[in-house]
Amino acid sequence: MSWQPTDCHAHSTHSDGALSVAEVVELARDLGVRPTISDHISRDAPTTVDSPRAVERYLDDLERADVLRSGEFCWHDALWLELPPATVRRFTHRVGSLHSIRLADDSLFRVFNRELPLGLTPAAYIEAHVSSLEALAVEMPIDVFAHPTLVPPPLRELDPHELWTEQHEERLVRALHAAGIAFEISNRYRPHERLVRRAVAHGVRLSLGSDGHSREQVANIAHPLALARKIGVRDEDLYDPTRHGSRTGAFDE
Ligand SMILES: [Zn+2]
Ligand SMILES: [Zn+2]
Repeated sequence: MSWQPTDCHAHSTHSDGALSVAEVVELARDLGVRPTISDHISRDAPTTVDSPRAVERYLDDLERADVLRSGEFCWHDALWLELPPATVRRFTHRVGSLHSIRLADDSLFRVFNRELPLGLTPAAYIEAHVSSLEALAVEMPIDVFAHPTLVPPPLRELDPHELWTEQHEERLVRALHAAGIAFEISNRYRPHERLVRRAVAHGVRLSLGSDGHSREQVANIAHPLALARKIGVRDEDLYDPTRHGSRTGAFDE
């Protein structure tokens, strides 16, 4: 069969997606995309997959479909630490996210907050974001770092080339490379091209992610694929757990 792009990150009704697993699979097939279900697995996210038992039931359901089996784990929530290796191996790959970051004073800050904490500058925010990513990369045995440039709404108004220093970009891609974690080109929170180029230059693998929650979004990875190709990444080098393996152990002998 000819190469097909893989959407490594999409949601279903198991968490906050609008489509059933079967609908995600059918929609992706119509778009010529290999689908993944990567619902939120967390005690601090909108999801029903919020305990080790619920994770087993979720995987039981995904195993009945022709779909890659993933989950989007919050770094700041401990549920990912509670899954036994036999459960972890049932995932084809795992996605990790900074839905909260740790600030310099050690408090957690939710990245969907409408406002930054009083007195926190954009530069201090990015410093905390990158420091949190560096901790995530060491601690979490994930395969894909979701939406690497997700920041609170007020910071999305800023030019990313000014919000992000080149030093912060370097630290982010070095941490991913050292851990063997792929950089997601998210269609939902699109990274700036300079950062994606830097990831590729450091040998970090790219992963395509719709992060789709609706019929309009799921398996829509045309923009991420076009960006990867523009940068010169070969299609077959884009992350595909069945080709490149996974840290879950799913493809180990
Ligand atoms: Zn997310
Ligand atoms: Zn997501």
